[in-house]
Amino acid sequence: MRQLIIIGSGPAGYTAAIYAARANLQPLVVASSVDAGGELMNTTEVENFPGFPEGIQGPDLMAKLQEQAEKFGAEVIYDDVVELDVDGPVKTVKLGSGKTEEATAVIFATGSAYRKIGIEGEERLSGRGVSWCATCDGFFFREKQVAVVGGGDSAMEEAVFLTRFASKVYVIHRRDSLRASKIMQDRAFANDKIEFVWNSEVVDILGEDAVNAVVLRDTVDGSTRELALDGVFVAIGNDPRTHLVHHKLELTAEGTIRVEGRTSRTSAEGIFAAGDVVDPTYRQAVTAAASGTVAALDAEHFLATSAEHAHAEAATV
Ligand code: NAP
Repeated sequence: MRQLIIIGSGPAGYTAAIYAARANLQPLVVASSVDAGGELMNTTEVENFPGFPEGIQGPDLMAKLQEQAEKFGAEVIYDDVVELDVDGPVKTVKLGSGKTEEATAVIFATGSAYRKIGIEGEERLSGRGVSWCATCDGFFFREKQVAVVGGGDSAMEEAVFLTRFASKVYVIHRRDSLRASKIMQDRAFANDKIEFVWNSEVVDILGEDAVNAVVLRDTVDGSTRELALDGVFVAIGNDPRTHLVHHKLELTAEGTIRVEGRTSRTSAEGIFAAGDVVDPTYRQAVTAAASGTVAALDAEHFLATSAEHAHAEAATV
């Protein structure tokens, strides 16, 4: 049986792995078969991770974090957790490959998943003009007209990135002011290819085999109109990925995993949580990394205390 399994391979998972591996816990990182590296794998330049004044590409940063974790003895596998048993002293992790792993402690760092608008055309035309990742799919929209839905940092980042390919990028936002940080707003406002469509919600996405328009509803007067487009990039935030622990761990009203105060301790002993899956507010690469550190230190303390108890019990028998 292992001491520690880390589920997730974003900044929280890999930072937890670096700390745990340096503490000689030889953690197993279940990195996912398709999403390994987490959100930053879909990002271009990361300019605000401390220590990289010249910026670093998201996938390069994740490769470095993985390399650092492996250097100290973390084992990384590209598999998916399909079931997690959180009760009792032995935590069981069932994997998509059919294998089962056991550990005394688990750090849950599964991050968050792209939020969907929840309209019919979105699902139907997914991959045929509807996308959640400009860095993955932007290339297909050379000299095309596209829209980004959302008003946060992600939407600004996607919109600016898409201007490399598209002839025109609309940013469709449901209000008349953005949620994005000032620097990201300024960048988008300064870009000639970007046009803002304020107070508008996308209520339908049209097209037979590929997107050809969206239907917009004016959030002020309720009127609707069509806007011709070749692509729609949805960037309206993320939801914590908690499906594996529904009804097993306590969640907060925001849907994140509930942890005790500033610790990473969840409602199940020996299960720790870190990164976006516990954070409804900050959700930055660096806050996720810090949260991974907390989880590794908490897990290390828990494992040391459990080992002491086991020794004491063995001595009294
Ligand atoms: P976010 O900050 O939660 O913004 C989501 C945006 O989508 C908001 O403008 C929201 O509108 C809109 N929205 C939400 N649900 C909607 C719906 N159903 N229909 C239409 N619009 C909807 O999410 P984010 O932009 O993904 O950013 C998440 C976190 O990552 C933030 O902390 C952000 O700072 C960070 N981030 C940072 C960077 C960077 O620093 N380079 C890049 C990307 C993300 P309202 O404004 O009306 O609520």
